[in-house]
Amino acid sequence: MSHFPGRIFRHVLLLVALVSAVMAAGAPAPQITLSVDATDAPRKIFHVRLIIPAKPGSLTLYYPKWIPGEHGPTGPIQDVAGLKFTAGGKTLTWRRDLLDGWTFHVEVPAGASSIEASLDFISPAGSEGIYTGGATATDKMAVINWNDVLLYPEGWPSDDLTYTASLRLPADWKFGTSLAVTSQSGGEIKFAPVSLTMLIDGPVITGEYLKVVPLNAGQKPPVEMDIAADSAAALDAPAEVWEHYKNLVKQTDALFGAQHYRDYHFLYSLSDHVAHFGLEHHESNDSRLGERALVDPTKRLLGAGLLSHEFVHSWNGKYRRPADLATPDYEKPMQTDLLWVYEGLTEYLGEILTGRMGERTPEEFRDALANEVEP
Ligand SMILES: [Zn+2]
Repeated sequence: MSHFPGRIFRHVLLLVALVSAVMAAGAPAPQITLSVDATDAPRKIFHVRLIIPAKPGSLTLYYPKWIPGEHGPTGPIQDVAGLKFTAGGKTLTWRRDLLDGWTFHVEVPAGASSIEASLDFISPAGSEGIYTGGATATDKMAVINWNDVLLYPEGWPSDDLTYTASLRLPADWKFGTSLAVTSQSGGEIKFAPVSLTMLIDGPVITGEYLKVVPLNAGQKPPVEMDIAADSAAALDAPAEVWEHYKNLVKQTDALFGAQHYRDYHFLYSLSDHVAHFGLEHHESNDSRLGERALVDPTKRLLGAGLLSHEFVHSWNGKYRRPADLATPDYEKPMQTDLLWVYEGLTEYLGEILTGRMGERTPEEFRDALANEVEP
């Protein structure tokens, strides 16, 4: 062991701190361009291209691993194919990390200031899986979860990385998202630059049959439901359904007294050929049930509590989150000891609101609550 005399050691520490501060101040966080071609969504294939600023040497990139709301290391790396890196038209050497399957090391050649990464994301078939690793596309609709279709560089929190994303959809498919759109032309949608955190917070629902229902017309911040289904008939719900979801917004406002989103979208998939679940975001939720979930009375009753639960998460889980679940990026593990607050309180309030909005009668509400209690 070597030993520094105290004063020299303090000077060295000061110098290191100064150099680090200057380097941090002089190295703005990278601005990344992400292009997703979803025109092959009916075949369950999404083509991805990224341009990532880089310096010569080794560049470490991550595929999102710990996905918000999934509470585990579930990023579907097993569905990524065709990964390739180039700079100036030349293919680059890369390797997958030997200890972490979501980490890649790319050799950036001298003179390069950026690299291009390309990959395909292949969504599972059937209605397999859950959350953003689950089946996500049919020949009539799809949900694009951005964490499935991107890489990000090591060294910055996701709040500091900026992504400028664009998306191509199958001809005549409509879409809904909480992300701000800057332009649409030639079949390409361009989104306003956002942090990586807010990009992943804003999935896109798209489909041939897409119904948009404003839930608080004329009020700020706006709330709407964007529903994609495998058939037009699946969207033909009784008028009371839409009234109940308008009530949900009113009742949730009354419960919390404030909103923290700028623009909220319920993204609701109705298909027997996608995975079924609900996944919360701050400004939207990605909720998926069977094709007849709104038109079959029994199925409607069984699924009645899903959207209210996910909406409550905008407050409990997103605006406020247990500290050890609020990680700086998608590589650092989340700790789940306070999930009983994150999920437990949300489940309770979601049940209350499902009754207050009218989608369950008082008796059905009591039955649903009794069904939650383990004997
Ligand atoms: Zn939940």
